[in-house]
Amino acid sequence: MSSVSTSSISIPRLRDSFDGRVTAPDDAGYDQARKVFYGKYDRRPAAIVRPADAAEVAQVVTLAADSGQELAVRSGGHSLAGHSVSEGGIVLDLSEMTALDLDLEGRAAWAQTGLTAGAYTTAVGGHGLATGFGDTASVGIGGLTLGGGVGFLVRRHGLTIDNLLAAEVVTADGRVLQVDAETHPDLFWAIRGGGGNFGVATRFRYRLHELPSIVGGMLLLPGSAEVIEALVATAEAAPEELSLIANVMVAPPMPFLPPAAHGQLVVMTLLCYAGDAEAGGRALAPFRALADPLADMVQPMPYAGLFEPADDMEVVEESARSLFMDGVDSRAATAIVEQLQATTAPMAVAQLRVLGGAMARVPAEATAFAHRDRRVMAGVGCVYQDAGERPTHEAWADGFAAALRGGPGVYVNFLSNEGPGRVREAYPGRTWDRLVEVKRRYDPGNLFRLNQNIPPT
Ligand SMILES: Cc1cc2nc3c(=O)[nH]c(=O)nc-3n(C[C@H](O)[C@H](O)[C@H](O)COP(=O)(O)OP(=O)(O)OC[C@H]3O[C@@H](n4cnc5c(N)ncnc54)[C@H](O)[C@@H]3O)c2cc1C
Repeated sequence: MSSVSTSSISIPRLRDSFDGRVTAPDDAGYDQARKVFYGKYDRRPAAIVRPADAAEVAQVVTLAADSGQELAVRSGGHSLAGHSVSEGGIVLDLSEMTALDLDLEGRAAWAQTGLTAGAYTTAVGGHGLATGFGDTASVGIGGLTLGGGVGFLVRRHGLTIDNLLAAEVVTADGRVLQVDAETHPDLFWAIRGGGGNFGVATRFRYRLHELPSIVGGMLLLPGSAEVIEALVATAEAAPEELSLIANVMVAPPMPFLPPAAHGQLVVMTLLCYAGDAEAGGRALAPFRALADPLADMVQPMPYAGLFEPADDMEVVEESARSLFMDGVDSRAATAIVEQLQATTAPMAVAQLRVLGGAMARVPAEATAFAHRDRRVMAGVGCVYQDAGERPTHEAWADGFAAALRGGPGVYVNFLSNEGPGRVREAYPGRTWDRLVEVKRRYDPGNLFRLNQNIPPT
């Protein structure tokens, strides 16, 4: 028997209402159904409900509001803070809502929010089209889009939200709203960066860009301070078609890495030139000239090729911090090398994403993601098995972040459980106050609170 209290909801009635798409603690598939990407969030909800459409989502929302049960909303289940699974409450699992309606002539797509970034990218890629999400196929379009969406097309086409044309949102009072720049513009502004605070997004309408192929893949360079500094400068000077994500780390003994690199500090750079092969070759030449590459797998490929192979892995314990930097000088590059050499964790990384381009041209007040002028987004972190080591690795992550941070500010989707002060840092200037106003209008009772929360008061 499970210890979960289901006193205020009737599981048999739920099963009737949702045609059996309900998993409860005594069901065979319960452990699989409650699992999220980060295994450390090992929680036992009272029920996991998989609605089929917006009307059923509204039913779950109303049930949670009426019963007082905690509501977790799950698209791809990759929340760093464990927000997509509840202890004792209801999980609204969107995984059965995966319809994708393409308007090829209008260069737009309506996508249900149970889709993953990878499934969407592969489907539209078949038509030579793309919308930019992040760097990982299994991340859900729901959480990623609502926080902003920073990926391989960020300098070319901006954030994911810069390509969001409209949305369908179920609000706390159970209404199904169609939202865009003209209809409920306050809500449309808030969901472009404000996360899951304002309702359940059931569908997004995205702009599609022609992208028949890219030049992309991994370039592996030695992880010296000189290379790190020069890499960032080269990326800032590159044409906007080029975005990259650079991971400075000790090279694991993986088969695609040359044995000479194993155990060495390397910069594993994933590059994406969103354009034709010839121009791509020219844009990539300065990167290849930074040092003798340890491996060079950059080549013409479909955009979806960047998301292979499958990326599912079991992450047990992680200590990570996200921050913005105003460039990477030799002091910062040296700090990266020293901190990565100092950790006692089995695996550690400093990730650098060079921003700018199309993302920076959107005015800060246009969306709830307002860090438009930041030049580099960095993440530092390590993974390990033993929770007992957590204090050591948390202190290391804090020290590392402090050594790099260029003032306050954080991307909400890369926040873990870091307290209300850090959530506020995600929303600089007037953004926070505007979000609180919208929250008050659409969710005054804070039904949607299992998230990086913006309280209505
Ligand atoms: C391995 C990995 C790689 C990542 N790479 C990137 C990257 O390259 N770029 C980037 O921008 N981010 C990246 N992220 C961060 C990612 O965007 C966030 O973790 C995001 O919240 C995950 O979305 P999800 O739908 O998978 O997660 P979920 O855990 O399902 O959702 C997270 C939260 O978002 C809200 N939410 C989700 N769907 C909905 C919905 N339909 N309606 C209302 N609220 C909803 C809920 O509050 C939920 O708790 C990465 C995360 C991981 C774990």
